[in-house]
Amino acid sequence: MLKSPYAGGHLEVIVGPMFSGKSEELIRRVNRSIIARQRAVVFKPAIDTRYDLTRVASHSGQSAEAVAVAHTDQARAYLSGEAGLFGPPAAWPEVVAFDEAQFFDDGLVPLALELADRGVRVILAGLDLDFRGEPFGMMPELLSRAESVEKLTAICVICGAPATRTQRLIGGAPAQYDDPVVLVGAQEAYEARCRVHHEVRRG
Ligand code: ADP
Repeated sequence: MLKSPYAGGHLEVIVGPMFSGKSEELIRRVNRSIIARQRAVVFKPAIDTRYDLTRVASHSGQSAEAVAVAHTDQARAYLSGEAGLFGPPAAWPEVVAFDEAQFFDDGLVPLALELADRGVRVILAGLDLDFRGEPFGMMPELLSRAESVEKLTAICVICGAPATRTQRLIGGAPAQYDDPVVLVGAQEAYEARCRVHHEVRRG
């Protein structure tokens, strides 16, 4: 059988609430590909300054080199060599990963599909649900289009059951459904919770 030069390209999506190990899993997959002598590039949204601008880091301390981009166009430019890197698409790396995928713009879906169509293994990790427990941005589309989906759970901080939701707390109380995503000056915290203990205040 003839092997296509674009064989092997596909989308792998890793989802779950905060603290479920999405970044850990992304870093594990990327580091294994590097051991296999493949070229891998990890992108993360530039707004996430959680630990380090040039690395992705998990809550438990693992990390991998990453490129922080403010827009998917910057990721495309980086891959296409406009930033002096890989040159034409034929020279794209074998593995391209996106952490915190839910925070990227709408250009992520077409870019991920184009990469996969060109033979790249694309790994996307992100929150499937927002703090209200509703589908997050373009994540449902990525989940539908992926060849492989891993849905991780954290541990509910209230009861110890598998946690599928991210609890948002403002000043120690559950956030309101209508609270804006960015609240300037508010004391905010996030916890992993199960369906029973996830609370969203309404009205
Ligand atoms: P994510 O990317 O999904 O937010 P990370 O990979 O950054 O998750 O972190 C996962 C790590 O977070 C776990 O290995 C564990 O050490 C730590 N952790 C902290 N709180 C919890 C929790 N409630 N449930 C599970 N893991 C937790």
